[in-house]
Amino acid sequence: MSHFPKSTFRIFRAPWVVPVSSAVICDGAVVTDGSTIVTTGSFSDIFSQYPDLPVTKCSGVLLPALVNAHIHLELSVYGVVYPPKQTSSMCEWINELLRTRETAQFTIDDIRNAATQTVLEQYNSGVALLLDIGNLDLGLHSLRTLEIHPLLEIYGSSAEATKTAVDTIEQLPTEQAVTGHAPYSTSPDLLQYIKKRSTQQNELFSLHVAENIDEALLLKEGKGCFAQFLKNRTGSKSLFPIAGIDSSSVVEYLRQLGLMDSQTIYVHCVHLSDKEIQSIADTETHVCLCSGSNAFLGVGTARLQVLLDHGILPALGTDSIASNPDINLWSEMVLLRKEHPDVNPEHILKMATYGGARAMGRESVYGSLQKGKTARILHVQDDMFAHASNDTEIIDLLTSKGQPDLVGWL
Ligand SMILES: [Zn+2]
Repeated sequence: MSHFPKSTFRIFRAPWVVPVSSAVICDGAVVTDGSTIVTTGSFSDIFSQYPDLPVTKCSGVLLPALVNAHIHLELSVYGVVYPPKQTSSMCEWINELLRTRETAQFTIDDIRNAATQTVLEQYNSGVALLLDIGNLDLGLHSLRTLEIHPLLEIYGSSAEATKTAVDTIEQLPTEQAVTGHAPYSTSPDLLQYIKKRSTQQNELFSLHVAENIDEALLLKEGKGCFAQFLKNRTGSKSLFPIAGIDSSSVVEYLRQLGLMDSQTIYVHCVHLSDKEIQSIADTETHVCLCSGSNAFLGVGTARLQVLLDHGILPALGTDSIASNPDINLWSEMVLLRKEHPDVNPEHILKMATYGGARAMGRESVYGSLQKGKTARILHVQDDMFAHASNDTEIIDLLTSKGQPDLVGWL
């Protein structure tokens, strides 16, 4: 009981408060102290506790801000990159993306301006935290109240490219965070070098993993579209399979390289066996799903229910506009609902909020409406919400309709 709350305390009342960390509250309220959450609860309980505080009435729903755990802001300038033909493989799309990047005449300012526009759109859609993977240092760390965590992505598959990459990394400022690209594009030595550096910095390590079925084929047999792609790019024979490393699966390969722990995020994770998922769960490695990008590239659908059954709560990422025309986390939730009709929608909302915060090691600040967390609270409104009569219906609407008509910040 607090009869003398600080003058900075405020009560926000709404028909629905969705804390994510606890049950949905009908006619709920959130108490904030400046930029910090003090408590959430039913309005009647809150009001009896703080009868003298000013009350701001909100319509619609209050919920935690979204977290986008995988984006490539620097690709915004190119727009959507379509594969050369309908039936083409992901490798052909990568070729098209590289060709577009190599032939386009954009300046760093063009790239930064387009990236900034994307950040603004993410902010307007309710995203408070982004994990941005890029080959350029755009110097973007925040915009309005959106926080950007940038990781400089490095790749190199041959011994020579690995040496050049290591030399490049050694020239970087010691605080510059670096990550790898993917097992098919980044040599095991380079991946281990980068991971060791990330660990020393207490930094995140993010890797595209099992996005395409051919990745396992490359590691195991040195075959498939990536083998051809690397041969065309580097002119040299495939490194794979590598003697002395069990490459029976992508995750087993990465496990042996020491690339699995709670500061690692595996992105996409479309083609994983039960055993690989168990290994991810055992090592507390995080998973980030990018369903919109997967659908666009036709690479398949991640096994969401199996991941959840193993105790893994994935994060969500939009990936870049190059492979996801929508690039919107509300649309990602809609797609996940369609692809996984048996998954409880509560999990899907939790993935878009708490899942991302947790994967990025920021769950003490973001991801749910809980005492002590930052008050990055979304206020969303939509005519549809008037039809909700219970917590199940409001979660269903939040995850199945797409971006609400009005997305605002408290
Ligand atoms: Zn990506």
